[in-house]
Amino acid sequence: MFQTPSRRTVLRGTAAAGAAVTGFDPFTRSWAVTASDRSLIAIPRLDGTVHTDDASLTADAEDFGHIIHRRPVAVLRPGSVRDVVAMVRFCNAHRLQVAPRGQGHATFGQAQVQGGLIIETWPLASIGPVGPHSTTVTVGAGARWSSVVEATLALGLTPPVFTDYLELSVGGTLSVGGIGGQAHRHGTQTDNVTELQVVTGAGEFVRCSPVRNADLFFAVLAGLGQCAVIVGATLRLVPAPETVRRYLLPYDNLQTFLDDQRALVSERRFAYVEGQVTTDAGGAFRRYVLEAVAYGPPVGPVPDDSTLLAGLHHAPSGVQASDLAYYDFLNRIAPDVAALKAAGLWSYAHPWLNLLLPSRCAASLAGSTLDVLTPADLGPGVILLYPLLRERIHTPLLRTPEDPVPYLFAVLRTTAPDDTATLDRLITANRSAYDAARAAGGTQYPVGAIPFTRADWRDHFGSAWPRLSTARRTYDPRGILVPGQGIF
Ligand SMILES: Cc1cc2nc3c(=O)[nH]c(=O)nc-3n(C[C@H](O)[C@H](O)[C@H](O)COP(=O)(O)OP(=O)(O)OC[C@H]3O[C@@H](n4cnc5c(N)ncnc54)[C@H](O)[C@@H]3O)c2cc1C
Repeated sequence: MFQTPSRRTVLRGTAAAGAAVTGFDPFTRSWAVTASDRSLIAIPRLDGTVHTDDASLTADAEDFGHIIHRRPVAVLRPGSVRDVVAMVRFCNAHRLQVAPRGQGHATFGQAQVQGGLIIETWPLASIGPVGPHSTTVTVGAGARWSSVVEATLALGLTPPVFTDYLELSVGGTLSVGGIGGQAHRHGTQTDNVTELQVVTGAGEFVRCSPVRNADLFFAVLAGLGQCAVIVGATLRLVPAPETVRRYLLPYDNLQTFLDDQRALVSERRFAYVEGQVTTDAGGAFRRYVLEAVAYGPPVGPVPDDSTLLAGLHHAPSGVQASDLAYYDFLNRIAPDVAALKAAGLWSYAHPWLNLLLPSRCAASLAGSTLDVLTPADLGPGVILLYPLLRERIHTPLLRTPEDPVPYLFAVLRTTAPDDTATLDRLITANRSAYDAARAAGGTQYPVGAIPFTRADWRDHFGSAWPRLSTARRTYDPRGILVPGQGIF
């Protein structure tokens, strides 16, 4: 359904290599690709729809960050994978830039494209089939993790690793990594994919896996959309617990908190380990809460407090333990999200800082950021600090410090979107924190708002850079995919 009422829509935009996109005619389904030559080129016949109305373009010039705004000239809502093939080929032929958009929860324009085409993946949301003995499930890239786990839980099965927020698309998190409290046991979400179905930048539909087109598979997982659009993914499944016991353990010493977390993940005592930094009575970020979750039957024994908490050094008072249905645990932040939405704060700006720190200097690096952080500069956000086990992470493009137990350190700031001076200051602070982390061997987890040059990206990918750039040349030879990352 084309929603623009006028006979001829003239939009300003830029193509990948010189050609200017000046218009899209919704009635003839045609694009004007140069300003001087008004000839229109018919777009392919589609099962889905292309939209050029102001609401669609404005919506896709936004993301969860509300910091960067790049306006596309058109939005594809695909009715099929065929549509993605057809439109990527069309854009490839005319050198128009393209970005897939999952749930738009990037924070720094990563899924935006000035003057190009956005492919909204939400219509590609198929799930299954899945049966009681399935070890995998194939889903559309636009499926949200909440829908995936709801479908598999009906059969007692679950993907092994989840992000804290379930309303992200499968394609969106597989493009970055997908880290959660279960990652110390199972690796990241990208480590739990057995096959991808993708459309390359050249417009070819390809199935890839560790044994079939492996170069493409490993260039797409955590590949920030640079080589192909994920249209489907086959995800590993494991038996799900029915209930879990969740502990919140208070600490007042950063190093003790980190040491206990490290011991827990090294022993694999819990199914899930995360942690948060909170303020003390004076507003200083000097309180820590270790969050540890044990899975109950049928995947684990009935949780026993004295066994699970033995030898830990948390403060004796203030320990919380609760038993939750497994899905309620996975979906635990939903009430907070609803409250933020109700207060209008979900649509605030999110200049997020997301780093992976080597364990040997996690306390000093996190501590130096926390020492100067004020509650006002965090806003109604949270600070995450928890360890991963590097031996469990096998995704080459997910860059982690050379350290057996890197720590995720995420300062998830929320601030007023119109206060540009504060936004600029926080983004500058993000860059400084990144520079300090980088100098100590840390990396960024690329979902936040850290200004990055092409040289920074080359440094970020390090030894994986030659393979990524070769894959880019091979699979997206005209360089049309996902310019918002600023990598090529
Ligand atoms: C509230 C919240 C909580 C979060 N919690 C976690 C967490 O616990 N762990 C974690 O690891 N991350 C977390 N994230 C970060 C999140 O995983 C990433 O930002 C993710 O990319 C967002 O998914 P999306 O569907 O919104 O993707 P989008 O923002 O739409 O896209 C992100 C990037 O991926 C590309 N992309 C999207 N879909 C595809 C596709 N099908 N094929 C190829 N490229 C694609 C886009 O072009 C863009 O570059 C969180 C984010 C938010 C907002």
